[in-house]
Amino acid sequence: MIDKSRFKEVIAKALGLEGLTADEAAFLLQVKEPGLQDEIFKAAKEIKQKIYGNRLVFFAPLYLTNNCVNDCLYCGFRRSNLELKRKTLSEAEIKTEVKILTEQGHKRLLLVAGEDLASLTINSVAKTIDQIYNTADIRRINVNAAPMNVEDFRVLKTAGIGTYQLFQETYHRQTYGKMHPVGPKSDYDWRLLGMDRAMEAGIDDVGMGILFGLYEPIYEIKALIKHCRQLEEKWGVGPHTISVPRMRRASGSSLLKAPYEVDDNLFKLIVAVLRLAVPYTGIILSTREKPELRDELIHLGVSQISAGSKTSPGGYENKDTGEQFEISDNRILSDIIRSVVEAGYLPSFCTACYRQERTGKTFMDLAKGGIIKGKCSTNALLTFAEYLRDFASSELKTIGEQKLQQDLSGLSPQDRKKVLTLLEDIKKGKGDMFV
Ligand code: SAM
Ligand code: SF4
Repeated sequence: MIDKSRFKEVIAKALGLEGLTADEAAFLLQVKEPGLQDEIFKAAKEIKQKIYGNRLVFFAPLYLTNNCVNDCLYCGFRRSNLELKRKTLSEAEIKTEVKILTEQGHKRLLLVAGEDLASLTINSVAKTIDQIYNTADIRRINVNAAPMNVEDFRVLKTAGIGTYQLFQETYHRQTYGKMHPVGPKSDYDWRLLGMDRAMEAGIDDVGMGILFGLYEPIYEIKALIKHCRQLEEKWGVGPHTISVPRMRRASGSSLLKAPYEVDDNLFKLIVAVLRLAVPYTGIILSTREKPELRDELIHLGVSQISAGSKTSPGGYENKDTGEQFEISDNRILSDIIRSVVEAGYLPSFCTACYRQERTGKTFMDLAKGGIIKGKCSTNALLTFAEYLRDFASSELKTIGEQKLQQDLSGLSPQDRKKVLTLLEDIKKGKGDMFV
């Protein structure tokens, strides 16, 4: 039986936006009673709403190469997967992929790559970032790539990335050793300290993650929370985002099944408890999860989602190259936008913060001071209006414009007046408006 008075205390602490200790999070993850789980879900929704409002930021991954010198047991890109069609995109191919994504309406990309210096060096990644910013209407580029030394992280910082993402996969050292038998990724500590090197290089928006399914989830969440606190203590700021990838089937993987399968209900609890534990950190949900579950998870504290994703280099152009893992949500961006609106959320293509130097501790201080919600809501309205103007079908336009009107009425009179003026500018053809 759960200790109900402790449960109440922990929920009250979370609702006070104080965050949770690793032990408190573990306590909530062990709650089995559906009624109490519902209270956790409700609290997660409320906390997300308090800090970020009802916006949901959209992005798409862009895979640059599927070459990899590592042999992660769970991944389709592992070097011993001899069946995989290997590919590193050329400059022209990257341009084509970006064009396809921008024509769908995306403004925010996550560059993803296998680890192979013969295919991709830090300078080529920096050059790619530069080219994308200069030739396409992409306004924020995040990167998920192997951890590097401080000098290389500086190159990435100078290239103008938003968030640098690095998933520890598992915090359990022995499991880590088994899952990553060879290659640079076999060094647990090099990966664990990757965030510190990124911070040292001036990248103060970092994104963490666990690959759920590799080890016991409560152990993993406790370790992740401790990792967040360590970063906070050392650098004055914890992670900007946490991703929640759950292991998927991958052709060529040597794991037929996740050793510690996380079922849908526990996964929902994990997402909600993370929102309670690190209230100001963004939570990113990918297309690894199926549509029906994603539609539920967006009510549990998720703040960013990917849409229309492909996990192979050249995937958007339908090139026949090997994918990293199977995705579960194959809906196109516009269909996901529609279901998000119907669920009561405001789709956002906002990329304002890092362009306004609201990163790292500056961002967190604004979030803690209650300032970010207003900016997020305004920028979501502006970028969604731009999306509707440029990319939506007439049906989606009607649905979207109703949502805009509804959310406008929720703004303070002062903010509403400001946003209405900017919306007029968007109608006249202006774009990329933000506060
Ligand atoms: N190669 C770099 C690395 O491993 O850090 C860059 C990122 S890798 C391409 C992106 C992430 O995909 C990994 O960190 C891992 O968590 C996830 N991943 C790999 N195989 C997966 C699978 N079968 N199902 C779900 N996610 C997977
Ligand atoms: Fe390579 Fe990353 Fe896949 Fe491991 S997870 S095999 S490092 S691409």
